[in-house]
Order: sequence, then C-alpha cells, then structure tokens
Amino acid sequence: MMPEQKLFSLAREVERDAANAFARIDKIAQENSQRVLAAFQKHRVSDTMFAGTTGYGYDDVGRDTLERIYADTFGAEDALVRLQFVNGTHTIACALFGALRPGDTLLSITGAPYDTLQSTIGITGDYPGSLRDFGVKYREIALAPDGTVDLPAVRAVLEEDKSIRVVSLQRSRGYSTRAALSVETIGTVCRAVRGMREDVCILVDNCYGEFVETIEPCAVGADLIAGSLIKNPGGGLAPCGGYIAGRHDYVERAAMRLTAPGIGRECGATLGNNRLLYQGFFNAPHTTAQALKTAVFCAGLLERLGYAVSPRFEEARYDIIQTIALENEENVRRFCRGIQMGAPVDSFVTPEPWDMPGYDCKVIMAAGAFIQGASIELSADAPMREPYLVYLQGGLTYESGRAGILCAAQCMQGAE
Ligand SMILES: *Cc1c(COP(=O)(O)O)cnc(C)c1O
Repeated sequence: MMPEQKLFSLAREVERDAANAFARIDKIAQENSQRVLAAFQKHRVSDTMFAGTTGYGYDDVGRDTLERIYADTFGAEDALVRLQFVNGTHTIACALFGALRPGDTLLSITGAPYDTLQSTIGITGDYPGSLRDFGVKYREIALAPDGTVDLPAVRAVLEEDKSIRVVSLQRSRGYSTRAALSVETIGTVCRAVRGMREDVCILVDNCYGEFVETIEPCAVGADLIAGSLIKNPGGGLAPCGGYIAGRHDYVERAAMRLTAPGIGRECGATLGNNRLLYQGFFNAPHTTAQALKTAVFCAGLLERLGYAVSPRFEEARYDIIQTIALENEENVRRFCRGIQMGAPVDSFVTPEPWDMPGYDCKVIMAAGAFIQGASIELSADAPMREPYLVYLQGGLTYESGRAGILCAAQCMQGAE
C-alpha cells in the first residue's frame, strides 16, 4: 500500500503540471461569465423577477426573462427553461416529439443515443408512447473508427431517405467510450448536413457540454439544443429542470409538447425558484470550470497511478466527463466507495452495484449530492463489465473535487 505522503506528493506534482490546463479553463470561464453577465444586464435583471408565480404561472416575468438570457448566452433565437422538465431525457423527448410527426424519421449520426433516450425513441423496450409507438422511424449512423461523424454515410442516407426530419448529434461522450465532439466539429457537421438537406432539423443533445467552450452549438448551425439543469447550466443551484434553445418555431413546438397544444409556454409556475435558476446560471461558467479542473486532476493522478484515462491529462476537453479504466471489479468498488466517502452528503453510505433498468449488467453509482442525482456535483458511475470503466463528473468546487478524488485513490490503494 502506498503511504499517504506519497499520494499527497503525487497530487502536488499533478497540480504543478496542470498549471497550463487550469489557466486555459480559467480563461474560458472568464469569457463565458462575461457573456452571461452581459445578458443579465441587457435584460435588466432585478430582484422582482425572483418572486415567481403559483398556479397556472401566467405572466411570470422572471421565467420569461431568464429564457431570453439563455437564448442570448447560447447564441439562439429562443429558449425554453422550465422546472417542469423532470430531467434531461424528458427535455430531449419534448424537443423530439415537438419536431417529429408520424411517418418522419429520426437519424442519429453519432451512433446510439444516450441509454435513457433509447426507450423514448423505441430502440429498446416497448413503452407505450415512444416515438416508435407514434409511427416515427429511427435510423442511426455509427461514428467512423477515428471518432468523427461519417459524413459520406450521412449523405447517402439523407439522399436515399426523404422521410428524415430530424438529424441528431450527442455532444458529450455520455456512457460510451467515444470522445466528446468539439463545437467546431459540430459546426462543420451542421454546415455539411445543411448542404445536403436544407429542411432537416439538426438537434444536439448538449448535456455535459454547456460552458466547456466559449460558444454553444446554436451559434454554429444547430437548430435545437437541449440539456438538464442539474448538470452544467444549473450551476449546482437549480433544484430541477431542463432547457431547450434554438430556432423559435422548434422551441414553440417543444413547449406545446411540454404542456399542451394551445397552452405551450404561457403556463408553468416557478414557485419561488427563479432566484436559484438565475444564480445557478450566473455561477454555471465558474462551476463548470471547477468540474473541469477536478476532471483534469483526476486524469493526472490516476494516470500516475498507472491507469488508462480518457481524456488524457493534457488532452483538450469538450465535456466534463472523465473516464478511467480501473481494470477489475474490486478497483471500481473501491474507487466509487472513496468518491462517496469524500462527499458532503451521504458520506457514510457504501455504494453497491445493482441491476439498473436498461443495462445488460450491474451498475454502481457514487453520488453524495445536495440535489438528488445532480451530476454537476462530484459523482462516479460504472457498468460492472470489461474494461471496468468508471465515468466521473462534476465537483462543485475544485477543492472538494480534489479531496474526493484523493479519497477514492486512497481507497483503491488499500486494495494492494
Ligand atoms: C445526462 C444525459 C442525458 C439525460 O439524462 P437524465 O438523467 O434524464 O437527465 C441525456 N444525454 C446525455 C449525453 C446525458 O449526459
């Protein structure tokens, strides 16, 4: 077992070597904070907007102004930011159901979508009300072996199948082994797709990507983006919710789906939560930077301990996820136990692998979060199978993220 002192000196080495990466992250956070601040000022935010509404939620000035702020910050025409979105899956589902009609086809061009969306689409499971149940077809194109979007294949499918109405991309790696896409790459793909078919809606699952770079996909050609408020844009303060941003007509359609046709965005009480959404969005560039630094620290430390990590310590980052190949089940259990032990909430709990719906093996999850399931807070999860990859994300403050990673590393050292 490695003495504690050795681990701490490794940690100091990692931080010394991380100076450039940290400086890059700070610079991005600075630019993003300025953009958010400018949007607050332009829309004359005042504390009267924090009061919110009850009941139907008509005339919620705070809610409606925050939507303008999201739209401006993300380079979009319009945005819908609502507590009534129960999670990221529901948010993306509203965007999809809004844009698609029976007989249309959804084409995913970054391979299989995020696990929970597969039942929404009807790829897995047989749930009533899935897109498939409504007569919406689905096709997908895998990423090329080098991890890029296979544009020749996309062109062939778009030319042959005129029923394709939505082309979807996933920005982050999600629960896969591929790399995240940069916004620049998303821009190149959007221009190419637009050149092939003028009339398709390009939708980007933006989860875990917000504020990692200084522009968002809407600014480079995406028609719609969607994400969860208990990830990056909620800044660790939003208690729940999701957002959709992009072209006005598609945002309107999603709003009709969220509530009811004819009601749309007019209703949706905020119940006194507006301040948390505003303050969370104000914090989000900084909070995302804290999560990124935590990921960089984790990559550096685990690399030094001999494990394969992705992204590597020095590599460019396009989402907040860090994967670590921990080689065996015992390591995964110990790492996750350590992350849990290092958390501010539920630190006394031991995470156990369980049969999670939608997975073909047991999954272990460590999360000691203020907000249930919030993965902008330090969290780790792993499917219990080869190559024993752990997905780590979040860290509300770098200091607490660093402490959590050290706790996990210490826990793992105990195995030797
Ligand atoms: C988190 C996430 C979602 C939505 O997940 P929820 O748990 O429903 O919030 C969708 N896509 C990606 C890539 C995600 O990371």
